[in-house]
Amino acid sequence: MLAAYEIVIGLEVHVELHTASKIFCSCPNHFGAEPNTNTCPVCLGLPGSLPVFNQNALELALRAALALNCRINHFSRFARKNYFYPDLPKAYQISQYEFPLAGNGHLAVYKNGELVRNVNIERLHLEEDAGKLLHDEGHASSYVDYNRCGVPLIEIVTGPDLRSPEEARLFLETLRRTLLYTRISDCKMEEGSLRCDANISLRPWGAEKLGQKVEIKNMNSFKAVQRGLEYEAKRQAEILAKGGRVSQETRRWHEDEGVTSEMRSKEQEQDYRYFPEPDLPPLVVDEILLGRIRRELPELPLPRYRRFINDYELTPYQAEVITSDRDLADFYEETVKIYYEPQKVANWLLGDVLKMVKQAAGEINETPFTPAHLAELLKLVDGEQISGRTAKEVLEESFNSGKMPAAIVKDKGLGQISDRDELEKVVDTVLHENETAVHDYQEGNKKAVAFLVGSVMKATRGKANPQLVTALLEKKLTGNK
Ligand SMILES: [Zn+2]
Repeated sequence: MLAAYEIVIGLEVHVELHTASKIFCSCPNHFGAEPNTNTCPVCLGLPGSLPVFNQNALELALRAALALNCRINHFSRFARKNYFYPDLPKAYQISQYEFPLAGNGHLAVYKNGELVRNVNIERLHLEEDAGKLLHDEGHASSYVDYNRCGVPLIEIVTGPDLRSPEEARLFLETLRRTLLYTRISDCKMEEGSLRCDANISLRPWGAEKLGQKVEIKNMNSFKAVQRGLEYEAKRQAEILAKGGRVSQETRRWHEDEGVTSEMRSKEQEQDYRYFPEPDLPPLVVDEILLGRIRRELPELPLPRYRRFINDYELTPYQAEVITSDRDLADFYEETVKIYYEPQKVANWLLGDVLKMVKQAAGEINETPFTPAHLAELLKLVDGEQISGRTAKEVLEESFNSGKMPAAIVKDKGLGQISDRDELEKVVDTVLHENETAVHDYQEGNKKAVAFLVGSVMKATRGKANPQLVTALLEKKLTGNK
């Protein structure tokens, strides 16, 4: 049924800006404080209080707008969006309406190095967040926490450009990665610092006119966005296939049941009675400010991905994983700067190092292990001062303690034995103690040598240089004995 229709999706994304204080008052802006402790007369909407704009919110919003290739409006204005709900003590939200901060941008979405869609960013504006209602199960009343009131937000609105639920998820992941690079927010969907509503409609293939759209809310993870939209596309296709009409409404996604249900219909849609905010002057962005923000913008994930493939000859997979996180990409480049072995650094970083970061359930820059540590470790391996096996042991200790690899090797006597005379003694002992294996070898079972190499490694606690051991053994076993 679904195959008969083209899916059209547009997203509205809210992102909390990580300023130190709120957008119109000096209350701290951080997640997880005791309810109603980060509040003051301004964000509680008490009569007579006046908002004062936090300039830092503007700078972060501009950074996001530039990263999304938006045109910046040098003049924009705040507006009051009026609605009555317990999470909003003023009974209006300060937002932007007629004159948003930025618009006309675009963000390219790629999958496995292939362009999926270039998505238009229709507008990007600044606004304040509302409070949070807490519903206690089995309790008749709800609680309200105003800590989130006045937390600065940007709202990003895309064009109706996405053509499948998967594309919507990929766009959101790309957006998150891009915004994380600009360090304007931690973009955590589970904590609500990145939130996404979607408009979805269906139309027959080839039709130009858009179908009736339905707004979907309460999708609280990337997976939920895809699943919610998949469900909704199917629901609409079934209605249309029966000759029915999709009604204009807002629906809520229920993650556990895997369905959407009606929240409010067109008749219940609010009229927000927007009007210009009289207590705040217009926002003016001059060229000096914009120039500075532009200069401070970091290299973004996509150009960095391409550069890593070109400059370091990484595979698309390696480049994608490393550039997916700005700190990881910085760690990689710092290490390569100290020790120019791009492929080896990538292998170790994506293998053992990342595994340990995951085990520690942290971020790469939260550990005492630095690019200098990794570079030193690789030098020890390449210089054959330690074996690959010992290197893993050294890495683990260095990762946990922050001690430099060379110091660990020295203190623990882990240096690889490449001394011919010293190894020869061990080899002789092993040959003497394993006559059966020697006999097998001489009878033509060449595999017996592996057992003997293993015995030497064991006797030296893994410190023997395995190539040298093999050479010594073969020499002694083949007639020179
Ligand atoms: Zn406040």
